[in-house]
Amino acid sequence: MTTPIIRPLDDLRAQVRGWKSRGETIGVVPTMGALHDGHLSLVHAAKASCDRVIVTLFVNPRQFNSAEDFAKYPRTEVADAALLAPLGVDALFVPDAAEVYPPGHSTVISVSGVSEPLEGAHRPGHFDGVATVVALLFNMTGADRAFFGEKDWQQLLVVQRLVRDLKMPVEIVACPSVRAGDGLALSSRNQRLSPGARGHAATLPAVMFRAANDMGAGAEINATLDAARSDLTGAGFGPVEYLELRDALTLGAALPGRPARLLAAAWLDGVRLIDNVAVTLPN
Ligand code: AMP
Repeated sequence: MTTPIIRPLDDLRAQVRGWKSRGETIGVVPTMGALHDGHLSLVHAAKASCDRVIVTLFVNPRQFNSAEDFAKYPRTEVADAALLAPLGVDALFVPDAAEVYPPGHSTVISVSGVSEPLEGAHRPGHFDGVATVVALLFNMTGADRAFFGEKDWQQLLVVQRLVRDLKMPVEIVACPSVRAGDGLALSSRNQRLSPGARGHAATLPAVMFRAANDMGAGAEINATLDAARSDLTGAGFGPVEYLELRDALTLGAALPGRPARLLAAAWLDGVRLIDNVAVTLPN
């Protein structure tokens, strides 16, 4: 099986019109490529609940904070198509930046509130870029359902808010984080770690899971977070941009008895890693 690659929007729309005329449901998995098992888990979820599945591959320039990070982002389209081939994906949509953002493109979607702390504070404009491209991808694909990873927890909340606020007719499906055997959450950026750094990158989730367990068992929150931050620094991470416990749904202060989330962004070997884990605080 090969995966049909579609680039022009008109071609995608013609394909989607055909599917919709037969009453078929359409799932979309938005990605920036350099696919790994985390992405493939979203594709499996989409295949399980939709008649047709579109994977989009677009390295969105608007969500990067530096030209260097955008330039360095891995681009592996041929390998990506090969990885998708056995999964029965109906289309790999790879739009041109010139079609996504033609000259004169002037609309930016900005979700306030949930986009502001954490990633929003450290990556100004990032979530405007995400919200804008996600809205464009929903409009381009006409999908009924869209699949996002919990790996990017704050992004998931931003997209859920976007869809609710703009009454977009698409259901957002959240999929759990897929981790390597040592616990490191899979990420396209992991490829940029040196072998030595990759060897101890799993200290990040190890420290986070331990802190989450401790706080769930009633350990004092600030002291636990401080200890976790210094564990990371001691293990060679730096800077630790944030390691914070927040309410899982609002990203406001974590409250007893409500779902909370421990979220972190930390640099290792010049690579920015993010992760998050669930915490259940005692009442
Ligand atoms: P990206 O290509 O990094 O923009 O990610 C595309 C989608 O895959 C997003 O919804 C991510 O949250 C999701 N994703 C990335 N890594 C993982 C992972 N390790 N487990 C689950 N989903 C992931």
